[in-house]
Amino acid sequence: MIQIAAPEIGPEEIQAVNDVLLSGMIAQGPVVSAFEEAFALYTGTKYALAVNSGTAALHAALYAAGVGPGDEVITTPFSFIATINPILMLGARPVLVDIDPNTFNIEASAIAAKVTSKTKAIIPVHLYGQPSDMDDITMIAREHGLKIIEDACQAVGAMYGNKKAGNLGDLGCFSLYATKNIMSGEGGVVTTNNKEYADAIRKFRQHGMVAPYEYDDLGYNYRMTDLHAAIALEQVKKADRFNDARKQTAQYFLENLKDSKGLIIPKTGDSRTHVYHQFTVRVTSEAALNRDAVLQRLREDGIGAAVYYPKPLHAYPHIQKLGYKLGDFPIAEQVASEVLSLPVHPKVSREDARHIVSSLTGILNA
Ligand SMILES: *Cc1c(COP(=O)(O)O)cnc(C)c1O
Repeated sequence: MIQIAAPEIGPEEIQAVNDVLLSGMIAQGPVVSAFEEAFALYTGTKYALAVNSGTAALHAALYAAGVGPGDEVITTPFSFIATINPILMLGARPVLVDIDPNTFNIEASAIAAKVTSKTKAIIPVHLYGQPSDMDDITMIAREHGLKIIEDACQAVGAMYGNKKAGNLGDLGCFSLYATKNIMSGEGGVVTTNNKEYADAIRKFRQHGMVAPYEYDDLGYNYRMTDLHAAIALEQVKKADRFNDARKQTAQYFLENLKDSKGLIIPKTGDSRTHVYHQFTVRVTSEAALNRDAVLQRLREDGIGAAVYYPKPLHAYPHIQKLGYKLGDFPIAEQVASEVLSLPVHPKVSREDARHIVSSLTGILNA
């Protein structure tokens, strides 16, 4: 089976973990600091704060931005559930805006109509590795005094203009979960250029601690260990190589799938790069088979294709409790029924890619 995701672990990661184990210092320490420095350098931001998941990164970033009970945060209904849960954890309300079917990202032109006096922040999600329309989103945020918190969990290394994801708003959030473009098993990072935000996140990830045994607010244990940081530090060094491999496979797919009937291939917006955390096509009603049948046939051919995401966020009960219902975001709903992601990670060989193309075109032309 060609897996949908496979971490790239080399002798460097193994050696680095070994070194930490032998050092006897396992918890957050010098290797976390070294990773934070390397990650800040990579994204071009002043600060990078390591935490233990992308979810924790989003929670900490929203906290630093001052989001609290009664506030509203604008985001997309088409993402992983972890985009929206941290808003709820802080007692704020997620205000959803439908997506652009071409990029799968939030429809920037529809944001302004959802801004109220309670709106505090916007979370654009750079879904599948493609940055959102940050020029338009920045304009709206400036006009209304809103913070921008990028959910860049799938977009490490992606560029918008001459800046990297994580350096396009007030705060950037990354995940180092095992399937992400760079990973440490579990892990996360917040990037920012703002010292006050950086200090707030340092505090938040350690019980609200401002000095030894002095706590000035509620906080959590969101620390990363040196063991995880050791892996992450080696992975940052390889990020561009991993992303280049993904882009090459994606280019092969784009060239060889462009004429398939009933298939819409991914599009990249102007002045940005796509790092293809997922290579996601849409199987439309013009195809010979529906999406689920195509998925099934690909699996029978040894291709671990997958659906990200089978449901929009407003289909889940704890979001519906807020007053959302099916029908509210028709584009997200339609896209959720059509999307199919093909294996595109660095371990997908050219031979694998050829097999994927011939299998998929065969299924669609049957
Ligand atoms: C992975 C991911 C997260 C959450 O990251 P975890 O490390 O799994 O907590 C959040 N948002 C998006 C878009 C993701 O892909």
